[in-house]
Amino acid sequence: MFLRKDTLAETLRLLRERPDAVVVAGSTDWGVEVNIRSRRASCVIAVDRLPELRELRVESGFIEIGAALTLTEIERRLDGEVPLLAELFPQFASRLIRNGATLGGNLGTGSPIGDSPPALLALDASVVLADADGEREVPSRSTSPATGRACAAPAS
Ligand SMILES: Cc1cc2nc3c(=O)[nH]c(=O)nc-3n(C[C@H](O)[C@H](O)[C@H](O)COP(=O)(O)OP(=O)(O)OC[C@H]3O[C@@H](n4cnc5c(N)ncnc54)[C@H](O)[C@@H]3O)c2cc1C
Repeated sequence: MFLRKDTLAETLRLLRERPDAVVVAGSTDWGVEVNIRSRRASCVIAVDRLPELRELRVESGFIEIGAALTLTEIERRLDGEVPLLAELFPQFASRLIRNGATLGGNLGTGSPIGDSPPALLALDASVVLADADGEREVPSRSTSPATGRACAAPAS
């Protein structure tokens, strides 16, 4: 079953009802799981079009990047504003992959060889975690991609 809701709040409620669901954004990692590793999910929930996760705000002192923006969108919208990310993007896969791959997906995969976690660490970035009970901000240094778990439960 493939499900897509219009808002983040509806999606988070759905995720509570379907703890078995797999969240997907660009599916560049999930597609490999399905095609190469033969993984299947009873329920797949897409977050790639959620407006709340597709915002990018540049404020004085901080930049907020939506988890469902693709790497190409972030690269183009930042336009060199963050030199470390401007250096990283051309080295991340190919343009084809970057056109679909999201920052949230890179963190969600929790790969020990993922490219964005070290960059976010170097930038002293924070990650906003959300579930149906609310959200909280955690420093990227508290996440642990090396163990394959990108983050702890949102509301705890
Ligand atoms: C050919 C190829 C080359 C690649 N090269 C690189 C590379 O150079 N560097 C690199 O780091 N990676 C690389 N990758 C891996 C992949 O492209 C990235 O990890 C990408 O950022 C995943 O984003 P996605 O939106 O496609 O994630 P998806 O495949 O949609 O999801 C990946 C995981 O993250 C979870 N997830 C997705 N969105 C969210 C969210 N908003 N909140 C919480 N969890 C979420 C999903 O449940 C799933 O477990 C490559 C992959 C391929 C196929």
